[in-house]
Amino acid sequence: MKADFYSLSRRELSAALENAGFEKFRAGQVFDAVYKNKIFSPRNFPSIPEKLKLWLEQNCEFSAGRLVVGKGASDDTKKFLFELNDGKFVECVLLEAPDDGGGVRKTLCVSTQVGCACGCRFCASGKNGFFRNLTSGEIVAQFLPFVKEERRGSKKARVFSFENVVVMGMGEPLMNTDNLLAALDVLNSPEKFAFGARRITVSTCGIADSIERIAKADFPYRLAISLHGATNETRSRIMPINAKFPLERLVAAAEAFAASNGRMITLEYILIKGVNDSPSDARELAKIAGRIGAHVNLIPYNPVEGLPWERSPARRRADFAEVLKRERVSFTLRREKGSEIDAACGQLALRTSAYNSDSSIGAP
Ligand code: SAH
Repeated sequence: MKADFYSLSRRELSAALENAGFEKFRAGQVFDAVYKNKIFSPRNFPSIPEKLKLWLEQNCEFSAGRLVVGKGASDDTKKFLFELNDGKFVECVLLEAPDDGGGVRKTLCVSTQVGCACGCRFCASGKNGFFRNLTSGEIVAQFLPFVKEERRGSKKARVFSFENVVVMGMGEPLMNTDNLLAALDVLNSPEKFAFGARRITVSTCGIADSIERIAKADFPYRLAISLHGATNETRSRIMPINAKFPLERLVAAAEAFAASNGRMITLEYILIKGVNDSPSDARELAKIAGRIGAHVNLIPYNPVEGLPWERSPARRRADFAEVLKRERVSFTLRREKGSEIDAACGQLALRTSAYNSDSSIGAP
């Protein structure tokens, strides 16, 4: 089996190349080609002998998947299906939003599993259950197509076309923690892509033991917790994971994380009509946010075909926000993004009949 190229440190590559009879300095050239010049196919590496290109192609995996279809929407959300080498599909989404300086800020949303085992009742991703974890190479591969040419002074450079990364696609990242951390390290490591840790957010449905683990480890990224319910009763109704990790344990883990990581946690809260959108829910949410010192992100629910849940009406969302304001909670009331193109988690891949390559979705 081929080695995942991106998992290799410079030192490991150097040793492997030397072992195969190549000069030691070639590792630096290859690293520059990939991480500096962002060329992801050995065929196109500059100043590399044919023999080494061939060796790299035969021994290393440079692309663990490919984009097969993209959908655009008028509100600048672009959704892509990503085909893995075993024919399974996951999705990634590119969101564009205006930034403070009048420009556009692009955020790439990536997946960590095929399907999901958590079974949140409102979510499309878990509807067909869990297939498998993505490898770190497959997580990294979702970033690679988003590279563009940019003029820098008199030179052209290849750069990532997104400014932020959110791990909010299909799957539960903290049930695939090792591969996730390996992939984020490729993105963040100074000897690799050197993409800033503060521009990377990992979102979890509340796997408390993994949160405890990353609270103790070197985890420089931001953390978002999909709370969606501020009492055990409400949360258990829509999120089965709450039976395993009830709010007391989750909140304690979040507190430990906040203390060690030093960055504000975000609590994601989708407002579902008649389920979690009452003023009393808002007061409970304010208490939790206060304990953790978290920022709250209120999101209108994006209805999923075949599921009974509805979006909380605008008036009710505003009342909910008003309570948070009164309780002095830091929050944002997000407007819906990408609802026209099924951008809520899992919905596009679900249409390709269980992520199978035999489905009717064709190449773009
Ligand atoms: N498993 C992780 C990340 C994937 S989901 C997590 O749960 O955080 C990314 C976010 O989208 C989560 O907050 C999830 O609860 C939310 N989500 C899922 N389905 C949605 C829908 N139909 N409308 C709005 N948000 C949804």
